[in-house]
Amino acid sequence: MITYGIIPNGFGPEIIFNDRKRIFFQPSTFYEGIFLGMPPEEKKEIFERNNYDYSELEKEVMKVKGSKKLTNRRGIQKGDVGGTVGIVIVNSRRHGGRSDENKNRIASYTVMVKGAQLLDGKLQDTFDISCNCKDSLYKGLGEFTNRKVCCAHAAAALYALYSGHESLKECKPMLKGEIFLPFVVDEDLAAYVVKSRYIDGRKLFNIDKELMRRDILSPHLEDLVDDGRVIFTCSKKKEEYPDGLGIKMWKIRKNLLEMGYKREGIAKEFDGNCYWNYSIDKDTDLRIMPNIDEGTVSVMKVTYVDGMSRDEIIRKFGRNVGYGRDPLRRRMRVYKTFELKYPDKSELRWIIGR
Ligand SMILES: [Zn+2]
Repeated sequence: MITYGIIPNGFGPEIIFNDRKRIFFQPSTFYEGIFLGMPPEEKKEIFERNNYDYSELEKEVMKVKGSKKLTNRRGIQKGDVGGTVGIVIVNSRRHGGRSDENKNRIASYTVMVKGAQLLDGKLQDTFDISCNCKDSLYKGLGEFTNRKVCCAHAAAALYALYSGHESLKECKPMLKGEIFLPFVVDEDLAAYVVKSRYIDGRKLFNIDKELMRRDILSPHLEDLVDDGRVIFTCSKKKEEYPDGLGIKMWKIRKNLLEMGYKREGIAKEFDGNCYWNYSIDKDTDLRIMPNIDEGTVSVMKVTYVDGMSRDEIIRKFGRNVGYGRDPLRRRMRVYKTFELKYPDKSELRWIIGR
């Protein structure tokens, strides 16, 4: 049986930069990256102080990844820093290695971190990360815009630059100033994430949801949230609809983006609805929801009603319409729903104007 709708595999914050570049930070991957970068003795020590079984981790990592590189190698190999750019070589499992010989060879990835220094406590638009692994490319995010994913290697590199890792000490000068991190540094939490994934066999998406309920956002990321530069969204594993409904969903989003809408994300904001919706924000906040059985798409206009009473809501919108909560737990009301059969721009303009 096919499950329709969006199937997510990661949930977390995505920073939107002024040049439309976007970087998605998946919390579970980030904390695994911190763990990856630690020396093996330290990994073992942190594991044991939390009463987790390190030998079981070694065994399970071997089963999942076909190698023990996460557990018995030092993740950060070496690095070089010049000006605002840091290059860090991260050891990891070799991707796509089928033969035993390939599996046992250490793969190393080259991560480039650019402009990670905060200026007056703020992250600049020059910030960029890149890694030559597949994880940074294939997470189903990029359709319209320049979207990137911070992979575990990039997270390890960022953390190494932040903490002045011993492997980077030989390269002078280090990046000057305070380095941006999306989440708070917590080694015990890093061990917990690795244990949850490999020993308990939990899905990354479920770990992400749990982590996002904790206070893990760094003060720097919270500043960006306050500035409206962050959306909370999910990365897609797949997205499937019956009979042309997917094309309609895609066309509506494409048209809205062409009409100047910028902040597109995926969220599950409506209680009692089993489907994920697209949220597209500008002056008018819109939500796009598939109606699987009818083959139509609902475009909903929403507004935030935090602090308003039921009476005030009814007075303002005429009725106490449907409700939801966005990932920041702000109360949200849908005040108009339009059902679209054809995803034309003229119809969308009419909806926005209403
Ligand atoms: Zn990578």
